[in-house]
Amino acid sequence: MPHVGHWIAGAPAAGTGDRSADVYDPATGKRTKTLALASQDDVDAAVAAAKAAFPAWRDTSLARRTTILFKFRELLNQRKPELAEIITAEHGKVLSDALGEVSRGQEIVELACGINHLLKGAFTENASTKVDVFSVRQPLGVVSIISPFNFPAMVPMWFFPLAIAAGNAVVLKPSEKDPSAANFIAQLWKDAGLPDGVFNVLQGDKVAVDGLLEHPDVASVSFVGSTPIAQYVYETGTRHGKRVQALGGAKNHMLVLPDADLDLAADAAVNGGFGSAGERCMAISALVAVDSVADELIGKIKERVATLRTGDGRRGCDMGPLVTGPHRDKVTGYVDAGVAEGAELVIDGREVVPDAQDDEAVAEGFWLGPTLFDKVGTDMSIYTDEIFGPVLSVVRVGSYDEGLDLINRNRYGNGVAIFTNDGGAARKFRNEVQVGMIGINVPVPVPVGYFSFGGWKQSLFGDTHAHGVEGVHFFTRGKVVTERWLDPSHGGLNLGFPQND
Ligand code: NAD
Repeated sequence: MPHVGHWIAGAPAAGTGDRSADVYDPATGKRTKTLALASQDDVDAAVAAAKAAFPAWRDTSLARRTTILFKFRELLNQRKPELAEIITAEHGKVLSDALGEVSRGQEIVELACGINHLLKGAFTENASTKVDVFSVRQPLGVVSIISPFNFPAMVPMWFFPLAIAAGNAVVLKPSEKDPSAANFIAQLWKDAGLPDGVFNVLQGDKVAVDGLLEHPDVASVSFVGSTPIAQYVYETGTRHGKRVQALGGAKNHMLVLPDADLDLAADAAVNGGFGSAGERCMAISALVAVDSVADELIGKIKERVATLRTGDGRRGCDMGPLVTGPHRDKVTGYVDAGVAEGAELVIDGREVVPDAQDDEAVAEGFWLGPTLFDKVGTDMSIYTDEIFGPVLSVVRVGSYDEGLDLINRNRYGNGVAIFTNDGGAARKFRNEVQVGMIGINVPVPVPVGYFSFGGWKQSLFGDTHAHGVEGVHFFTRGKVVTERWLDPSHGGLNLGFPQND
């Protein structure tokens, strides 16, 4: 059985730990690989490799750094199909979705290719008489990235292209559920000419995470995952003096007003609710429909779901399995709870028969089909909790104000969408809603790479969003230089506070 290890100092590393985990193919339910789980010694080795590589990389010219970034971008683009296959084999999402994830990550690599512009400081001549002032931004040192299972390529790419471009050395700790994409990416960096030790992969679990959070040589932590762990990482990392951005979970609402194009809204609800089997932090999970259009909208969603094929992501299906057996069981448990709590089950994904295409192997996959609830109450667990599966809950409201109030009372604030043809209503909504990323007639409003990605409230701990200008800011520290070159008129003794003239 193949064994997945770490990538340290430019080469695969077996590690010293004696613990391991299993990796599954979610479409067959079979164990396909084992995974090394890092020990504290492995954490130390990865951080030491990054620390050793940092001084030379920091001093490498922007011209040379961007040459490597452009090369990495070309390799990533060429080998996207292979990377997508690796993602699908361990995550389960359909191949087209895996390709899309890599493309969205590639956007940040392309942004990072312009790091020379992004790092430019400001210069003021003669701020005081014959005194010039300028600002520069410098890298932090060793930066760590801890990523979730649901985007094993894109989420790390939200961070490492800008971190590396800005002159830092990286230790990436991927999810233990789908670890192989990170090692594939490490090889691409090597092939692109990145010096050994600038990009390291540390496979593991809580031991690895805690080791990074407490390590004195780690300057920052970029975390993405569930809210309880994001909060833990933020609190632990900052307590150890690190700069931390920790992106957490979500419960994304889609508000449909009576004047919306209901066909567009139904398409969006299905795509946003069931794409990637609902395992997206920007998935739509609460469909807030104004009562007068709810029945018609639900009818249109039912028609569309009836055409979806759930099955092996490598075989042209629309929706794949869930990532693991325990996760599928947890999501199924929420469906059971929704029924018990009195919501109306319109489509029952527990009855799904995967598109087997004559292959009995898929029978043991981690299946749950698209599931739709109507008349969901805001006190039911299918509404209050992040389910992270293909379960869409319709919550009916009487008016725009009621819908907005419900969304603003939710503890999460990652993404939200409004469907309407009334520009004034849309404008009011985007101004009033307490959420970080807003889609207007767009269901999964993931910002393009040169803007920043991040939610509000319990969807983000820390104040810096991912990528865009905020990403550059996170991975650098500012310095301001005030300089004067001596000339014959220099000024004599003055112990007062310096003032400008
Ligand atoms: P998770 O929180 O279980 O794991 C995330 C990372 O934390 C993994 O690398 C994991 O190894 C590590 N981890 C898990 N438990 C830990 C512990 N007790 N101590 C220290 N480290 C621990 O999340 P997941 O299930 O991999 O991913 C799904 C979650 O991620 C969802 O909640 C989803 O909303 C969220 N997510 C958020 C965003 C965003 O941008 N806000 C994006 C993607 C995913």
